[in-house]
Amino acid sequence: MKDLLHFAAARAIAYAEGLGSRRVAPDPQALAGLSRFEEPLPDGPTDPEAVLALLDEVGSPASIAMAGPRFFGFVIGGALPIALAANWLASAWDQNTGMYRVTPATAQIEQVALRWLLEILALPPTCGGAFVTGATSANFTALAAARHAVLARVGWDSEADGLFGAPPVTVVVGDEVHPSVIKSLGLLGLGRRRVVRVPVDGQGRMRPNAIPRLSGPAIVCAQAGNVNTGAVDPVGEICEVAQAVGVWVHVDGAFGLWAAAAPSRARLVEGVGQADSWATDAHKWLNVPYDCGLAFVREPDILRAAMAVTAEYLPTETEYRNPSDYTPELSRRARGVDVWAALRQLGRAGVADLVERCCRHARRFAERLADAGYEILNEVVLNQVLVSFGEPETTQRVIARVQEDGTCWCGGTEWQGRVAMRISVSSWSTTDADVEQSIEAILRIAGADCVSRT
Ligand SMILES: *Cc1c(COP(=O)(O)O)cnc(C)c1O
Repeated sequence: MKDLLHFAAARAIAYAEGLGSRRVAPDPQALAGLSRFEEPLPDGPTDPEAVLALLDEVGSPASIAMAGPRFFGFVIGGALPIALAANWLASAWDQNTGMYRVTPATAQIEQVALRWLLEILALPPTCGGAFVTGATSANFTALAAARHAVLARVGWDSEADGLFGAPPVTVVVGDEVHPSVIKSLGLLGLGRRRVVRVPVDGQGRMRPNAIPRLSGPAIVCAQAGNVNTGAVDPVGEICEVAQAVGVWVHVDGAFGLWAAAAPSRARLVEGVGQADSWATDAHKWLNVPYDCGLAFVREPDILRAAMAVTAEYLPTETEYRNPSDYTPELSRRARGVDVWAALRQLGRAGVADLVERCCRHARRFAERLADAGYEILNEVVLNQVLVSFGEPETTQRVIARVQEDGTCWCGGTEWQGRVAMRISVSSWSTTDADVEQSIEAILRIAGADCVSRT
């Protein structure tokens, strides 16, 4: 066991240390090598070191350097060394983190992490919280609580009786809602298509004065951090309109909620704390390893009512907090340990610095690309930059060549009818030098494209 784990650690360390100097996208040869995994199920045991060596030799080069400093696709983030290290230790613990009495250490650590998270995200300290797999399941979890609450207010028990014959629930979203919210609404029986879509402004923010007059059970889903622009809905104003008539306000803040952690960005999310529930990710901006999302609900009892299970063989708790009373899962890994370790090591100032640094890098990208004559399509308020290189086909070609080139990795998107390259800066490990190196590569590729067309 000891030799195998040392062997694995050495390989993982070599991989992590190589992230800054390798190509970001795997080369075609590494991808072709993946066919080596296509073998029949072995009849019997193999030497474990040989198994791990195969995994590393074939898998590592074919992976994309998502955990590295020059991956700017989607909003991914790397893994802080302390979070990765704590994750390794917690994996050795192998705790099933559902019940306090069975896994007191991880349950306690997660409870502390939740308290710290509420503080750093400037959410009400008495919120209930849950560690889930990502913002998709956090949206699902928080919206299950919303569904419970708005139907309970009109005397309907959605957990017991389902939605057949229930009073209808109006669900309002901004036109720029993240698809994971729509998916969650589908899973909850609230329907993907029956949502009311509210128009947005040029940055993708919901227009509060366009929210229709609401009555009866209703949920408004706002957003903090548009995946393209980083813009934040005016959540405070939305809350004033909605909560006056008893409407639940949920905020999808997968990465945008973290603006609260950085003094220079906190004003972007002013008013967000007035909502009733929130979803966010720790695997994005907090840079813990995949997977880790978080759901928060202002009234812990509402989250519990939507999520708790009871069975004869499971200990019910009055004295302690059972994590599984607040999550869709019963058994799960202790993902809160990675969060605790990240927060314990960075402290408030460290998290602020992480967020500020990413925003500063995003601004640098925008400034240099604009100086070179390319159009920035969004107000760079957070970590997101949208850039157009001219005609849609030109932008698409530049994106494809940037990915092929391997210096850095950026994805594409369409923003309000314009094709754009999307730069998301969310890794702890990105340095000023990584940003300059990436900008040089992008400018070289875009410039060469221009020359080859004339
Ligand atoms: C990334 C993201 C999600 C989905 O998060 P996962 O962790 O991938 O499930 C939801 N909403 C927004 C705004 C996001 O940026």
